[in-house]
Amino acid sequence: MDATSRIPAETEPSGRLGLRLAAWYALVFVVTSLAIVLLTYRLLAASLEERDQQLVISTLREYSQRYADGGLGSLAEAVDIEQRSGRQERLFVRVVRGQSETLFLSAPNAFDDFDVSRLRGLGGLEQILSQSGAARLEVASARFADGTLLQVGKSTENREALLARFRYVLTIVSIVIVAVGLAGGAIVTRSTLQPIRQLIAAVRAIIRTGRINARVPVRAERDAIDELSALFNEMLDRITTLIRGMEHALDNVAHDLRTPMTRLRGVAERALQSNDAQVQREALITCIEESERIIAMLETLMDISEAETGTMRLEIGDVAVASIVGEVVELYENVAEDKQIAISTDVEAGLTVPADSRRLRQALANLVDNAIKYTPSGGRVTVSARRENSVVRFDIADTGSGISPHDLPHIWDRLYRGDQSRAERGLGLGLSLVRAIVVAHGGTVDVEAESGRGSTFIVKIPVREIHPRSA
Ligand code: ADP
Repeated sequence: MDATSRIPAETEPSGRLGLRLAAWYALVFVVTSLAIVLLTYRLLAASLEERDQQLVISTLREYSQRYADGGLGSLAEAVDIEQRSGRQERLFVRVVRGQSETLFLSAPNAFDDFDVSRLRGLGGLEQILSQSGAARLEVASARFADGTLLQVGKSTENREALLARFRYVLTIVSIVIVAVGLAGGAIVTRSTLQPIRQLIAAVRAIIRTGRINARVPVRAERDAIDELSALFNEMLDRITTLIRGMEHALDNVAHDLRTPMTRLRGVAERALQSNDAQVQREALITCIEESERIIAMLETLMDISEAETGTMRLEIGDVAVASIVGEVVELYENVAEDKQIAISTDVEAGLTVPADSRRLRQALANLVDNAIKYTPSGGRVTVSARRENSVVRFDIADTGSGISPHDLPHIWDRLYRGDQSRAERGLGLGLSLVRAIVVAHGGTVDVEAESGRGSTFIVKIPVREIHPRSA
C-alpha cells in the first residue's frame, strides 16, 4: 500500500454551513457591539443633561440667596463676577415682576433665539424650544415674597453640538464594528470548519480512489473536531492493519497449499500415464485422501489466519472449566484406551473462564490430541486447570517423547513437524492454531519439554480485563 498522504482542504462541501455560521457570528457580534455603543451614548447624554441641570439649580440657589440678602444690586454684582471669571458658559439670568416687567436681565446673544416670554415660572425645570428648533432653554425659577421671579437658565446648544459630534464618531465606530464583525465571522468560521473540510476531503478521496491511505491532519491543540479527526485516522489505521493482515494470510494460505496441490497433480498425472486399472484406482484413492487433507488444512489455515489477523469472531462467555475439560477428555477417551494411555483430569471446583467455548475446546482438543499422539503405550496424560492470580491456567501434561532442543523453537510455526513425528498423522498446524486462538483470547501458551521426559503445554487465559484481539 502507498505511503499515507495528507489531503488538502476542499472549500465547497461545507460552504453553506460556513455561511450560516459566519452570518450568526457577525449578527451576534454586531448586535452586541451596537447595543454597547448605543448604551454608551445614552449614558453620556443623560450625564451631560444631569450636569447642566444641576448647574442651573445650584446657580439659582446661589443667586436667590444673593437677591434675598442684597437685592438686585448684589445679584447683578454676583452675575458680573461670575461672567468675568469665565469659569463656565454664560447663563441666562432674569428677574421679572408680574408677568412681563423685567427688572434684571443677563443673557448672551445666543439667547435671542428664545422667546422667554413663554416661560411661566411655575417652579421646577421648564424647557422652551428655540425658534429655529435647534436648541432648548432649560430654566429653573424661584419666586420671592415681593412677587418677583428669579429665573436662571442654560441653553442646550453646546451640549447638542457635543452630542452631535459624539454621534458622528460613534457612527464611524459602528461601521468599523460591522466590518470587523463580518470579517471576524468569515475568519472564525473558516478556521473552525477547516478540520471538517479536511475530513470531508479525506472521505471523498477514499471513496473516489478506493485507497484508504488518506489521513486528516490533526492540530497539536486538540478540540472536539480534532478528536474526531484523530479517531477517524485511527479507524483508518486499524482498517489498513486488518486489510494487510488479510492480504498476508491469503499469501500464506496460497503458499502453504501449493505443495499439497502439486502433489495432488502429480498423483493425477501419474494415473493418467498408466494404463493399469489397479494403479489408476489407487491413484484416485490417494487423490481423494490428499483432497481431504487439503480441505482440512485450508479450514485450519483460515482459522489460524483469522485468529492471527484479529478477524476471528469470538463469542466470549463464562465457560465452566470442569465441563469443557470433561468434554475434551471424553472425546479422546477411546483413542487413549486403544493406545493404553491413562488419561485423567484435575480441575479446581467451580472454576470459570471468560472465553469462546467452541474455540477454547478446539485449542484444548489439539493439545490433548498431540499429548496422546506423542506418548507411547503405557504412558499417562493429565489435564489440570486452576486459578493462578488473574489467569486460569491449563496444564496438558504427558509422559511421552518430549521435544528435542532442535525442534523446540519451531513447533509453533505453521506446517512444522518434529523429526520424530513423521510417523504420526498430522498437518503441522495444530500448535499454530492453539497459539492463535489463545492469543486472540488475550492469553499465552507455553511448553516445558525435554527429549524422552514428556511435555507439558501451559495455556493461560486472563480472567479480568480481557482484550481479545478480534471483535
Ligand atoms: P502435528 O502434531 O500435526 O505434527 P503440531 O503443530 O500439533 O503438528 O505440532 C508440531 C510439532 O510439535 C509436532 O510435529 C511435534 O514434533 C511437536 N509436538 C507437539 N505436541 C507434542 C507433544 N505433546 N509431545 C511431543 N512433541 C509434540
